[in-house]
Amino acid sequence: MESSALVQALAELIGEDQVSSDPAVLRECSRDYIGFRQYERGDGKFWEPKAACVAWPRNSVEVSSLLAFLNANGADAAPRTGGSCVSLGSEPVEGGVIVDGSRMNELIELNEKDLFVTASCGVSLEYLENYLNNRGWTTGHFPQSLPMAQIGGLVATRSIGQFSTLYGGIEDMVLGLEAVLPDGRIIKIKNVPRRSAGPDLRQIFIGSEGAIGFITQVSLKIFRYAPENRWMGAFGIDTMHKGLDALREIMSAGWHPAVLRLHDPVEMERDFGNIAPEGNCILLVIAEGPKALAAATGEGVKEILKGFGAADLGARPVQRWLIHRNDVCGRLDHFDYYKMGAVADTCEISATWSKIGEIYDAVLERLPQESESLVVVSGHSSHSYTTGTNIYFSFGAMVDKAENARPIYMNIVRVIMEETLKRGGSIAHHHGSGKYRTQWMPQEHGSSYILLEKIKEALDPNRIMNKGVLLKIEE
Ligand SMILES: Cc1cc2nc3c(=O)[nH]c(=O)nc-3n(C[C@H](O)[C@H](O)[C@H](O)COP(=O)(O)OP(=O)(O)OC[C@H]3O[C@@H](n4cnc5c(N)ncnc54)[C@H](O)[C@@H]3O)c2cc1C
Repeated sequence: MESSALVQALAELIGEDQVSSDPAVLRECSRDYIGFRQYERGDGKFWEPKAACVAWPRNSVEVSSLLAFLNANGADAAPRTGGSCVSLGSEPVEGGVIVDGSRMNELIELNEKDLFVTASCGVSLEYLENYLNNRGWTTGHFPQSLPMAQIGGLVATRSIGQFSTLYGGIEDMVLGLEAVLPDGRIIKIKNVPRRSAGPDLRQIFIGSEGAIGFITQVSLKIFRYAPENRWMGAFGIDTMHKGLDALREIMSAGWHPAVLRLHDPVEMERDFGNIAPEGNCILLVIAEGPKALAAATGEGVKEILKGFGAADLGARPVQRWLIHRNDVCGRLDHFDYYKMGAVADTCEISATWSKIGEIYDAVLERLPQESESLVVVSGHSSHSYTTGTNIYFSFGAMVDKAENARPIYMNIVRVIMEETLKRGGSIAHHHGSGKYRTQWMPQEHGSSYILLEKIKEALDPNRIMNKGVLLKIEE
């Protein structure tokens, strides 16, 4: 369908004020924070939005009529809410329509008896968390993008927060949800504490990245909010391997601190001002919950760390981290990578305990050899499980000319993906596949990749939903 006819038809469907093809608006609504796009935006020449228009539905019925229309006319729909994506996941393809749920921002129900809150997809996590905190509750979900992200995107990307070791990822928090399928059907998964009536259908949408439907409403569990009970401590540990062993010991002993973050020596020096002995890693610990439990957890963790020869650095580094942990969100649009001639970003993977240290070593060894312009690479573990943990690599490289920003960036990502896959780890711990890791998705899923294809085929046979995420685009 020709672009102007499409814009006209959508305006007739949901109202003129709910659709725009203004290039400045499209640029804003197509924004993705992946490192090379930030570079390219700075350059101003390399990246222009390709969508035909953006549409802002106000409710599930409008989402339904939008998707049904796009489906019937074979036009691509790129779902979006908070726009804090870092993996090209919400970037539209040429001629596509950005379906932006950020105007669906109704807080529908706080149920203090059954302990859940229901919100539309465009409710911001920051707003929701403040609303709950004022009433003595919390979602327990604190991704660094809390000031930017909204409920729909958080569920669609299978996001995880800084307090995950206690509360889990979003997949542990969603009680029920509502979504719209590409053919316009509205489906609802009800709120029950658990059921054994077939596979867990919520999980089809959690992490679906807009590839099979549009999430319109979510019910999240809520927990008591008692930050005054927190136990905090920071520790210096001489090597990353020793730190990873300590994390494993803490998890296998059965402790569940909310925060366990192990930063390597580069990050210790850069982000914590060398507070630990030179060359050490720094481990941050926060335990929360009922006061006695938080205190017992903190002391239990401290006892284990003593056995690893950890230096007790007190609570101040953690208090400082707590205050500044999301500051980067306010600075994102002011990073002038282009002027500095640098591309920088992060890349997160996960693996079992027996493999994670090897992946960290291999990436740190290979990257300087295979990326000539690499300036820095570092890593931290921020989400631990009884079976393993994640490593969140940070990297920066110099770029000679703008058209090389993407290849230089992807070369670094390639090394991280290869070393992870080689050892059976996962190529994406929490930022999703987006449209830049899809080339590795068949290897990631192996013989089960076909399930992704079959789900896509069944729910989105015309392949209108967010082309290029999760599955490789067929040539
Ligand atoms: C500074 C910074 C820090 C970050 N820290 C974290 C972190 O700690 N943990 C973490 O997990 N992530 C983090 N992220 C990544 C990002 O914030 C998360 O992926 C977040 O969940 C995206 O939410 P959003 O509302 O901004 O989604 P968007 O950016 O709007 O969309 C993200 C993806 O979800 C899809 N989508 C959006 N809304 C819907 C919907 N209603 N229905 C179906 N699909 C939809 C989009 O198509 C896209 O693929 C960070 C990003 C930044 C920029």
